[in-house]
Amino acid sequence: MNRRNFFQKAVPASLALGAVAASCAPKPQIQYPDKHYHISKGYHQIPKLRLSMDRIVKETVGLRPFRASGPRIETEQLGNKTIVHNYGHGGSGWSLSWGTGNIARKLVLATNEKKVALLGCGAVGIATARLLQESGCEVTIYTKDVPPNITSNLATGTWSPASRVCDVNVAKPEFKTIWEDATRFSFRRFQFLLGMDDIACWAEEYSVFDKEPVYAPGAGGEEFEIHGLLPERVRLTSKEHPFKANFVSRRSNLMFNIPSYLRHHLNDFLIFGGKVKIQEIKKLEDIDALPERVVVNCMGLGAKPVFNDQELTPISGQLSCLIPQSEANYKLYTQGASFISRKDGIYIGGNGIVGNWDTTPSREQTEKTVGILQKLMEEMRG
Ligand SMILES: Cc1cc2nc3c(=O)[nH]c(=O)nc-3n(C[C@H](O)[C@H](O)[C@H](O)COP(=O)(O)OP(=O)(O)OC[C@H]3O[C@@H](n4cnc5c(N)ncnc54)[C@H](O)[C@@H]3O)c2cc1C
Repeated sequence: MNRRNFFQKAVPASLALGAVAASCAPKPQIQYPDKHYHISKGYHQIPKLRLSMDRIVKETVGLRPFRASGPRIETEQLGNKTIVHNYGHGGSGWSLSWGTGNIARKLVLATNEKKVALLGCGAVGIATARLLQESGCEVTIYTKDVPPNITSNLATGTWSPASRVCDVNVAKPEFKTIWEDATRFSFRRFQFLLGMDDIACWAEEYSVFDKEPVYAPGAGGEEFEIHGLLPERVRLTSKEHPFKANFVSRRSNLMFNIPSYLRHHLNDFLIFGGKVKIQEIKKLEDIDALPERVVVNCMGLGAKPVFNDQELTPISGQLSCLIPQSEANYKLYTQGASFISRKDGIYIGGNGIVGNWDTTPSREQTEKTVGILQKLMEEMRG
């Protein structure tokens, strides 16, 4: 059969199959099959990870810049300088970067100054700098370090706008409105980044638990949610998934390929005439000495000593990186471990120790999470 004949025969055949299925099948088992759905096996066949300690190529500990009342986004007058603060995003700095950057941009534009100094070259600083450029500002970034030597480079890279963003018992009620505004703006912005060298993409996220997972309220703002922004999480029956677990759900989520994302936006910043100067800000006098009258502070945890912010505290998180597997492009979390499969590696971990400044990776932590995931993979069908 030649190719043309095949398609002529195949199309009516599949339509006929659909008509039969519609007439006699009472209710379809899978409403929205995705690319992991294996039609003859009848369940979501998910590529297994090649997990072993000798495939771990990197271990890192990053410090999430946490503030119980939420990120600091406000203007402060220091002598003749206007400081616009935009720091303290906890575990949601990637996700909120464009949204809080947009709020900071409005505060800058209200000053009518066009020459802006921006402190910090992380995910938050770079997004804020790009937005300011889009509004016609001339921006110079002053920073101690550039990627990859920044906290933002040590993140998981997924859409998690409420992750450790505040302590809901401490944050003011109006923070939720600010958070929602920032979240919606960021979400829209990320849709424009899809398809650009894969810096942002959609992928499947599985939650795999023996018992129904219980989230402690007030753990860090995680209960903030905007329904309808992401596709709803779908609970899978045991026939539909390959795991040995009772509570399995799946949803599509946004993911960020961190190294290419940072490079892309930093390159854009330079193309649009931005300048980057390596300079550590040690004290307020260093800010006073800058030529610009408006200074945007995106120094993350680095803001703590300079602005004496007692509230700002680290929540450390370890990631252990496996050699990438191009066929595995999903995220999974289970009791005691999680992973995300990015272009540059499979990142396992995501723990959080409040108040820990130590960035030395723990081999024990890696062995523990690798062990949990090895068992999960061994027990998987397929
Ligand atoms: C393990 C882990 C996983 C995470 N996963 C996610 C996730 O999946 N999704 C998500 O949205 N968020 C995640 N986060 C949170 C996110 O990484 C942070 O909120 C975000 O990186 C903060 O960005 P930032 O630009 O404010 O800070 P940074 O990336 O720390 O950038 C600060 C910048 O300021 C500069 N600087 C600091 N001090 C000075 C100084 N004194 N003088 C001059 N320059 C200075 C630094 O050199 C740097 O350039 C995660 C974090 C960790 C640790």
